[in-house]
Amino acid sequence: MGEIDCIYFRVKMKEKLKQIICDTIDSKKVELNNISQEILKNPELNFKEFKAHALLTSYLEKEGFEVSKSTPLETSFIARYGKKEGIKVGVICEYDALPGVGHACGHNLIAEAGIGAALGLKAVIDSKPGCNFHLIVYGTPAEEGGGGKCLMIEKGVFDEADICMMSHPAPYEIPNPIWLASSQYRIVFTGKTAHAAAAPWEGINALDAAVACYNNVSMLRQQMKPTNRIHCTIVDGGERPNIIPERAELFYFVRAQTDKEVASMVERLRACAEGAAQATGCTMDMKQSAPSWSAVNTNQVMIDLYIENAKSLGVSFEDDHARETFQAATDMGNVSVVKPSIHPYYKIQTEEINHNHGFTKAAGSAESQLPTLNTAKSMAMTVIDIVCEEGLLQKVQKGFKESLLS
Ligand SMILES: [Zn+2]
Ligand SMILES: [Zn+2]
Repeated sequence: MGEIDCIYFRVKMKEKLKQIICDTIDSKKVELNNISQEILKNPELNFKEFKAHALLTSYLEKEGFEVSKSTPLETSFIARYGKKEGIKVGVICEYDALPGVGHACGHNLIAEAGIGAALGLKAVIDSKPGCNFHLIVYGTPAEEGGGGKCLMIEKGVFDEADICMMSHPAPYEIPNPIWLASSQYRIVFTGKTAHAAAAPWEGINALDAAVACYNNVSMLRQQMKPTNRIHCTIVDGGERPNIIPERAELFYFVRAQTDKEVASMVERLRACAEGAAQATGCTMDMKQSAPSWSAVNTNQVMIDLYIENAKSLGVSFEDDHARETFQAATDMGNVSVVKPSIHPYYKIQTEEINHNHGFTKAAGSAESQLPTLNTAKSMAMTVIDIVCEEGLLQKVQKGFKESLLS
């Protein structure tokens, strides 16, 4: 076969395999919707995603995947399909919810999209294509604050993957979002109880320290970069008004565009807390409460392929304004600095932003199904480009290495 024939053959093969993906995902759309509806109806918090874990692992087993349940965490899993040869493709599912607002981040749809992509790729493997690849589905718990992926990275489970991908619902279609680096801290102030009416002067008020810290950070905020974020909840502010609180606790998230900037913001937070402790006479203890997250390092070669595949399905993308204003953080950032990865936002039909009740509703709506199936197809089609095109994985890896140096 000549070179032109060879290119023609490869293009035709990719088209055929992408068609298999689209047909398979379409044929499974009712089952896929059932999965995300079931997870939506049973919102489970960080590391307690038992029902979602059981649902996803039993479904993948039924589909013929080799599933390692509770590996390496109780509610994580690793499911494999295909011979262990060729490129190792990691597809990631999330399925944890938020307290009070349920699936307001739409992780039920992330699970659906990941399983959808996996089913499409499984059908490709079953069709015995000319290109070999090994499919690994990672079930990653506790994205909302727990950093499940960071703990999985520590156990080395992503080591074998050549590429990793997942996709996240949002009110915008942003293939290469600006994800922030993030750290979490718990600050505990300790004072001394006293009768709040009979002898308040005997007390040392830990709640006052918490409020002073809160206000110090509020003043700090006017000197921060617009891309920095610092926010907290008062976890403990005492029991009863007639007892001067001896304990108060604040729970902070600190975010910025780089790990280094987060570290410097954390020191400024520490100064705010120390000042509050000194002013009120309390003692202060500040501890990191979960692994730090890196900003997502989107692989340019992979995301360009994803965009082309999504466009072929009729998806259109936002301008830069949405990208610059809609910023969050994820533990996928940590995966993206150990393996070439993508983590696009895909648009579901809602005006609501993630983490509120309106988004929970949207995550269960019929209108969110088509975009979820489209992102599943786009991810799987991107895999086909990489595994069928000789030299493309090397390009992905070269871009990855260069991105770590910059
Ligand atoms: Zn979220
Ligand atoms: Zn999320």
